[in-house]
Amino acid sequence: MDTRGIPSFIVVGAGLGGCAAAIALHHHGHEVVAVLDKVRQFNRLGDSLGLGENAYKLLARWGCNVKEIQEIGNQAPTMKIRRWHDGKVLAEQPLMDMAGYIGHRGDYHDTFLKWVRERGIPIRMASDVTSYSDTTPPSLTLASGETLTADVIVACDGIKSLARHLVLGARDDPVSSGYACFRAYFEPSPAMRADPALNAFLGEDSVNFWIGPDVHVVQNTLRDDGDVPESWFQPGDMNEVRRLVTDIDPAIREAIKSTEQCLDWKICYRTPLPTWVSPKSHRIVLLGDSCHAHLPTSAQGASQATESAGVLAVCLGMVGRDEVGVATRAYEKLRFPRIRVSQTHGEDLRDRWHNVLKRVGDNVEIDPEMVKIKNRPLYAFDSEQDAKERPHLKEEVT
Ligand SMILES: Cc1cc2nc3c(=O)[nH]c(=O)nc-3n(C[C@H](O)[C@H](O)[C@H](O)COP(=O)(O)OP(=O)(O)OC[C@H]3O[C@@H](n4cnc5c(N)ncnc54)[C@H](O)[C@@H]3O)c2cc1C
Repeated sequence: MDTRGIPSFIVVGAGLGGCAAAIALHHHGHEVVAVLDKVRQFNRLGDSLGLGENAYKLLARWGCNVKEIQEIGNQAPTMKIRRWHDGKVLAEQPLMDMAGYIGHRGDYHDTFLKWVRERGIPIRMASDVTSYSDTTPPSLTLASGETLTADVIVACDGIKSLARHLVLGARDDPVSSGYACFRAYFEPSPAMRADPALNAFLGEDSVNFWIGPDVHVVQNTLRDDGDVPESWFQPGDMNEVRRLVTDIDPAIREAIKSTEQCLDWKICYRTPLPTWVSPKSHRIVLLGDSCHAHLPTSAQGASQATESAGVLAVCLGMVGRDEVGVATRAYEKLRFPRIRVSQTHGEDLRDRWHNVLKRVGDNVEIDPEMVKIKNRPLYAFDSEQDAKERPHLKEEVT
C-alpha cells in the first residue's frame, strides 16, 4: 500500500455526526472521498435538538458560520423547572446551562449538509451500506453491489448501526431502559393561542420542564418556517399519553391532551461498547450514535458527535498514512471517558428529576440545586485542544 500522501476517508451516514466528521476531517487536511447515506432524500425529521457551546466552538474553528445555527435556536434567556401537578417553579436557570440553543433537528441538519457541500465533499444519497470488510485497506459494499475502499471508514450510521456489529464481532441489540418517551411537534391552533394560560408558553420563546415521580414533561417552542414535519419511528398512543398527564399542571394539560399525534421514541440503553474500532485493521471506526448514544436528558448527542469528529481528525493528523489504525485507537481512548461523563449527566438528571418529589408534601421547599441541569461544565472543554495536549498518546496505544 502507498504510505505516502494523505489518507482517504469514507464517511457512512450523513446525519449530524457524519456531517461533523466530514467537515472536521476536511478542515484538518484529510481527503473525504464521499459521505454515504442510505436514504434517497432527507426530510425535516425529528423535533427539538440541542447544540452546546462545546460543539459551536469547534464548528466555528472549522470555518462554519455558526450564526446560521444560533439563529435557528430558541432564544429564551432562561428555562423553568416546575412541579408536576401545579407548575410551581422549583428552579430557573439560563438556557445555556443545558444545551446552548435548542432548534429543530431538521433545520440544524440542513445547515450541516450545506456546510459539507460548500466544502466540495460529495454526499451520495441512496447508498445503503450492506457489509464491511475489515481488511487493510478496509472496504464496504452497497446494496447496489458496488464496493468502495478508503484508508479509513468512519461509520456514523446511527443508533441502529450495522458497523457496530462488525466492530463488536457480534450482534448488539438494544436493551429497554424501562422508560417510554413520547414526542410531538406541532403548530399551535388559534384556540391554543387564544388561551391565556397557554399563551404564557407560546407568546415568546420558552423552555419548561414539569417533573414528578418517575415522569417528566419537556415543552419548548421552536423557530419555524411552517413546514410540517413527518414523524419518524413509531406513532405513539395518544390515549396512553393522556392517561399519563391526567394530574399534570392544568396550564399545560390541555395542550398535551389536545395534541393529535405523537411518536413513540423508544429509549434504549446500550451498555458502553468495549471498543469503537474494528478488530483486525483498526480502520473502521464508529462515531456518534453508532457508539455513544445519549439519553434525551443529556441534550448532548449531536454535540458529543461533533467533539468526537474533532478528536478523530486531530489524532489522524498526528500519524502517517500507514499508522491510521493507531490514530483510531487513540481517538477511542480519548473519547471514551469524556463520553461517559456526558452520558452520566443525562442519567443523573433523569434520576434527580424522577425522585426528588417522591414522598414530599407541597409545603416542603426543594433546594433548586437538586433539580438544576448541570451541563455547563461540559462546555468549557475543548476536545481538539485536549487531544493535542497528549503527546504520549500514540505510545500508549501501540
Ligand atoms: C430521523 C431522526 C430524527 C431525530 N430526531 C431527533 C430529535 O428530534 N431530537 C434529538 O435530540 N435527537 C434526534 N435524533 C438523534 C440525533 O440526530 C443524534 O443523536 C445526533 O445528531 C447524532 O447523530 P448521528 O449522525 O450519530 O446519527 P443519526 O442522526 O441517526 O444519523 C445516522 C445516519 O446514518 C444513515 N445510515 C444508517 N444506516 C446506514 C447504512 N447502512 N448505509 C448508509 N447510511 C446509513 C441514516 O440514514 C442517517 O442519516 C434523530 C435522529 C434521526 C435519524
